[in-house]
Amino acid sequence: MKNISVVVPVYKEERNICSFYERLNTVLSKLNEYSFRVIMVNDGSPDNSMQELRKLCTVDNRVSAIGLSRNFGKEIALSAGVAEAADSDAVICIDADLQHPPELIPELIDKWNDGFDIVATVRRTIDEQPLFRRLGSHFYYWVMRKISGLDMVSQTTDYRLYDKKVINAFLLATERERMFRGIMDWMGYDKVYVEFDAAARESGEAGYSYAKLIKLALNSITSFSLLPLRATAYLGFLITISTSLLLLWMGFSYLLNEEPIYTALAFVVVFNTFLIGIVLSCLGLVAHYIGAIHTEVINRPLYLIKEKINTYK
Ligand code: UDP
Ligand code: MG
Repeated sequence: MKNISVVVPVYKEERNICSFYERLNTVLSKLNEYSFRVIMVNDGSPDNSMQELRKLCTVDNRVSAIGLSRNFGKEIALSAGVAEAADSDAVICIDADLQHPPELIPELIDKWNDGFDIVATVRRTIDEQPLFRRLGSHFYYWVMRKISGLDMVSQTTDYRLYDKKVINAFLLATERERMFRGIMDWMGYDKVYVEFDAAARESGEAGYSYAKLIKLALNSITSFSLLPLRATAYLGFLITISTSLLLLWMGFSYLLNEEPIYTALAFVVVFNTFLIGIVLSCLGLVAHYIGAIHTEVINRPLYLIKEKINTYK
């Protein structure tokens, strides 16, 4: 019998935990051919979420609860849950606020049985989200696709099933400022998307404020691309080259004409801009080194193997 772990990050969900568990349990009890574990990670909720989880654990021994010492954010909560689930054949990550319908789980498992390593979900409708947030999300994914070269789909969610080999590879990641889904997308493997209609939050407010979302977006951009760093150098080169051409022309025209055709101030301004160009280029050069250090520091595995045929090791 294959075992599957359901990992649930929980932050200020005291009013959702019970109804979430009930809906999840209805779905899981129909899937008799698998053995399930539900791993709830309380991400330092200030409310009674932990007490609710304690109650659940006494009612159902398939449920485990992990309480983090403080609020670390969803990405870390998911990482903690996944580490606990490392020996399962598959892991399903799902939100506790019922925006991710547990009824989709059989479909995720079907796709997994078809041989996919990552079964990701995509929201079909998100009308209840404010326009600004929706536009922001589309823009973010557009930027990410452009600069990281990764296969990232807009409206994709953390509601996903991962095969054991993906989870084991994920556990090799050591970066601290992490975007869970981003690392998973970076890893590759065979991925398939399943669509679903997102419901509004059951109760309570979304724990992801705009500030948290912006921090997450910035983290993912800096950890997947060195483009912002390189842009400084390009700008510096552009300024240096164009101003040196201008300076050259100024020098020649000074020698060839009796009456100077530009003012002394103009010369000073161009010369100053030239210096700025040099400074920016040097900054870009420094950035290049920082980029190299950055790549070393996040210490991703060099490569990941999907399968081996006829090898000796
Ligand atoms: N969450 C968490 N830590 C946080 C914020 C959120 O573990 O700091 C959990 C939350 O309990 C929920 C999931 O992450 O299960 C998604 O959070 P939310 O609904 O606030 O985000 P959104 O639906 O807007 O992506
Ligand atoms: Mg939510």
